[in-house]
Amino acid sequence: MSAASSWKAGPAPFTSQDTRRTPVSMRLMAGSGPGPGAVSYQQLLTTMPTQTETLLDELHHILLDFRQMSAFVEEPLVMARAQGVRYWDVRGKEYLDGISGIFVANLGHGHPRIIEAIKRQLDLMTFAPPMHGTSTTALELVRLLRQVTPGDLKTVKLLSGGSEAVEAAFKFTLQYHRQTGHPRKYKFLSRYKGYHGATLGALGAAGNPLRRAPYEPLLPNFLRVHPPHCFRCPFEKTFPDCDVFCARTVEDTILMEGPDTVAGIILEPVTNTGGIITPPDPYLPKLREICDRHQVTLIFDEIITGFGRTGEMFAAHTFRTTPDILCVGKGMGGGYGPLAAMIVSDRMAEAFWGDAEAGIEFSHGHTFGGNPLSCAAGVAAVTELMENDVPARARQTGEYLAARLEGLRRFGIVGEVRGKGMLRGVELTEPLGKQIGKRAMDLGLILRYDPDWFALAPPLIISREDLDLMLSILEKAMSDVLA
Ligand code: PLP
Repeated sequence: MSAASSWKAGPAPFTSQDTRRTPVSMRLMAGSGPGPGAVSYQQLLTTMPTQTETLLDELHHILLDFRQMSAFVEEPLVMARAQGVRYWDVRGKEYLDGISGIFVANLGHGHPRIIEAIKRQLDLMTFAPPMHGTSTTALELVRLLRQVTPGDLKTVKLLSGGSEAVEAAFKFTLQYHRQTGHPRKYKFLSRYKGYHGATLGALGAAGNPLRRAPYEPLLPNFLRVHPPHCFRCPFEKTFPDCDVFCARTVEDTILMEGPDTVAGIILEPVTNTGGIITPPDPYLPKLREICDRHQVTLIFDEIITGFGRTGEMFAAHTFRTTPDILCVGKGMGGGYGPLAAMIVSDRMAEAFWGDAEAGIEFSHGHTFGGNPLSCAAGVAAVTELMENDVPARARQTGEYLAARLEGLRRFGIVGEVRGKGMLRGVELTEPLGKQIGKRAMDLGLILRYDPDWFALAPPLIISREDLDLMLSILEKAMSDVLA
């Protein structure tokens, strides 16, 4: 067994007590560079709470994501270090990472194989512009991706973040239809409650009015349909008697809009926002049929569900449905580098090959797409997922996690437990999700939560002991809130 494959999410290299006992002599060495025994700036923050205080001022000059900063500065969360399934903040408080950073660290933090790969790449080359060339590392990543993607999804556009992948998918779809005799196809369908990124194009597809409101009117060519939210079915139907009525309404929308105007539909196979909304098995195959019937491009946003999260390499495998375009990010680089991709079918990609003068190349790009450092992280992460069949491990651990979450029904406020693999959500019958999430945070467990639900999506490599620890903190948080 290689060193990498025997890697386990290890214990904390130091704890809050240790750090407070760190001798001053060590702290003073902080400025002496990275030699043996020297203390990094990060460690310095951990060892010297007083030093941290001087950074508090900077908290008034940083903008975090979707966050009211006046509340944040009252209770700032400043992380100093992460290892395995744990974070430590600047004061040395330990947190179990119940959501893999933010659905990113599928292999946990501090993975030696990935760190080694990045170090090797640092010495070799750190930048290669995607405008007039590529790199061996980028090509190596493409080769690996082609081995793990379903169907003929084999042409890859490397990018740096999920929103970029979504933007690329929209542009690729529009250009594809224009170049294949359907120039009037310009509308996209997306789903209420969905989220596909923060850029203006991706926001056009967002299904959450809160995210959209400050920037409306957004692009006019986006229309929304209801997701398959069986627990709170918007059509007040029950599966399986409904015969996935919600999928049939997608076809109605396409027909009413005019199939010759509808370019594509984007969706997360399992939707995070809204509470890990998980479709019944026939839903995605039915959408596939509808899209085929009307030449509508089916785009899966697998930015969260990709790379083992749902217990297979992609949710496309889990639900036995191959889209025309796959948007991936997050777990692809595992949090070790900004990395994402739009992966399209070779059939669609064909429409972009032609004479240099024909002007049919994909007219799109970003300076940092396919960055060699990020690609090195991606190569190592995907290799690790493949070699150790991490998705299978996620499937097994996920079954255990789901069974334990079912056990939370004894608290009397659990309406539904749903999800696949290591992406699990708990729908509540009382709007206590926020209190539970905050209490869990106090107790050292990071969850994703909204008033009506909370979610757990730990690193796929988590040990049974650490998962049990997470669940016992969650149970304590629930009983504290209910008390
Ligand atoms: N799509 C989904 C499903 C996401 O969850 C996110 C981010 O959370 C995005 C797209 C956007 O990705 P990024 O934040 O990397 O731009």
